[in-house]
Amino acid sequence: MNTFTRRDFIQQTAALSGGLGCAAIGGLTGAAGPPEINPAALARLQAKLKGRLVLASDAAYETARRVFYWNPRTEQKPVGIVQCGDEEDAVRAVEFAREFSLEVAVRSGGHSHLAWGSSNGLVIDLSPLKRISVDPERRIVRAQAGVTSGEVARAVGEHGLVPVLGQCPGVGATGVTLGGGLGWLSGLFGASCDNLLSTRVVTADTRTLEVNAETHPDLFWGMRGAGANFGVTTSFEARLQSIDQVFGGDIHFAVSDARTVLRGFSDLMYEAPDGFQATLNLTLGERGIFLSLCHSGEETERDQLLRKIRSIAKPIKEAVRRQPFADHAEKAAATNSGRGPSPTFRAIQTVYRDRITDDVIDIIVDQLTNASPDVILGLSHYMHGEVCRVKPDATAFPHRAAHSVHLRAAFAWSDSKTNEQRLAWGDKWLRLLRPTSDERIYANYQTYETKAGSRSLFGPNYDRLLALKNQYDPTNFFRRNANIAPSRS
Ligand SMILES: Cc1cc2nc3c(=O)[nH]c(=O)nc-3n(C[C@H](O)[C@H](O)[C@H](O)COP(=O)(O)OP(=O)(O)OC[C@H]3O[C@@H](n4cnc5c(N)ncnc54)[C@H](O)[C@@H]3O)c2cc1C
Repeated sequence: MNTFTRRDFIQQTAALSGGLGCAAIGGLTGAAGPPEINPAALARLQAKLKGRLVLASDAAYETARRVFYWNPRTEQKPVGIVQCGDEEDAVRAVEFAREFSLEVAVRSGGHSHLAWGSSNGLVIDLSPLKRISVDPERRIVRAQAGVTSGEVARAVGEHGLVPVLGQCPGVGATGVTLGGGLGWLSGLFGASCDNLLSTRVVTADTRTLEVNAETHPDLFWGMRGAGANFGVTTSFEARLQSIDQVFGGDIHFAVSDARTVLRGFSDLMYEAPDGFQATLNLTLGERGIFLSLCHSGEETERDQLLRKIRSIAKPIKEAVRRQPFADHAEKAAATNSGRGPSPTFRAIQTVYRDRITDDVIDIIVDQLTNASPDVILGLSHYMHGEVCRVKPDATAFPHRAAHSVHLRAAFAWSDSKTNEQRLAWGDKWLRLLRPTSDERIYANYQTYETKAGSRSLFGPNYDRLLALKNQYDPTNFFRRNANIAPSRS
């Protein structure tokens, strides 16, 4: 068994501290190259699988090892990627990784900010598992772990229902839920994890557990915000809500109005009704400044909101309409830099702030002025409504303070000669915007480590989570995640 000590963790983290070099968080530095494994053992593993084992010698390897955020600091070279054909494949993969002391990465949608869905050991890729079944009477969806948020929205939308998942359609529904899950409808219905009803989990000792409030109340509590720590979730069940149409889309403003729009956004969101959510994106690229919004509520309320938005500054373009939620949810993610070929590298830095202060606005405007066109700065998940009414210790996801907001800088490039320069730009953005005290990090958006370590992630819930980690994963077998290092690792 691979024993990754606390000292290793601290050494690796210290070596890379100060920026995006957080590949150490969760257990690894960059791509060291895969350890050698006997080919016969790999062949035996493949023979046991319903799915496929992709190895470095396969043409599919380069695609299979890649995840969404990929750059020299997060790149990983797995020994193999197990593309699961069923739940049993996850069990086989865990057994194999234990036998050969391989570090495991568990992947669903591959959207982790630090490429936690890949590793230099064995990747357990659930993304081929796509079965979704909807119980419209009970308003429940049961899905295998590989479904994306957009796929769930589409499937349940056929029944006039909506899931409470993240904003980006490509994000794994499982990944987003296990880490908390903030989305268009969180003001009305809470976080994704608040709507989780059960999960099936393969643990580090290869048991398969049906985890819900009755069978494992403590573990179920931990699954809702810190879930990647406790095993491979192979399927889940979640509560659905009854909304047919929403009003949503993008309203664009001139880049020269950046400061005014940021102030106006802050005022708008401070008084936002539960049924309204908006994300502000700012780029010097083709998309300019755009406010992406989603409203579910009375028309009079909607019209009032539109009047407020239009009074912030003169919109230069509007693409908003009433539409099925699934159509709204399917729109391109804000962090995509636009048309054209996919970039070779992508990176992101995110910061959680209590408030949108004047200082924050000044820094964002200043950074925008100096940014390259692929950079998209954003303010997402303005916290308000139902998600803030749920107590911080009701689930493992604690960061629910009203009026707090997530800031991000996403950037993408293809010229490897500029790697250091690009990553250094992100490091600087982070340094400028990190709070000086009481730093908190949302598990799903972790891009750096704080001095307080995992306490920044889980706040008052940390000690209870540590006890759970000690019980269910005492060797930190599952560590490529927003990690709680067990006491004796
Ligand atoms: C473009 C973009 C938009 C985003 N939008 C939002 C948003 O609106 N709201 C929000 O809250 N977050 C958002 N996120 C963050 C996202 O929720 C996290 O990155 C999330 O962890 C991604 O899950 P995944 O399955 O896609 O990623 P992966 O990289 O596959 O996994 C991410 C983490 O979850 C773990 N994990 C994934 N699947 C399983 C499983 N089946 N069992 C056990 N552990 C698992 C992984 O081990 C890893 O630690 C966004 C990210 C991106 C890149």
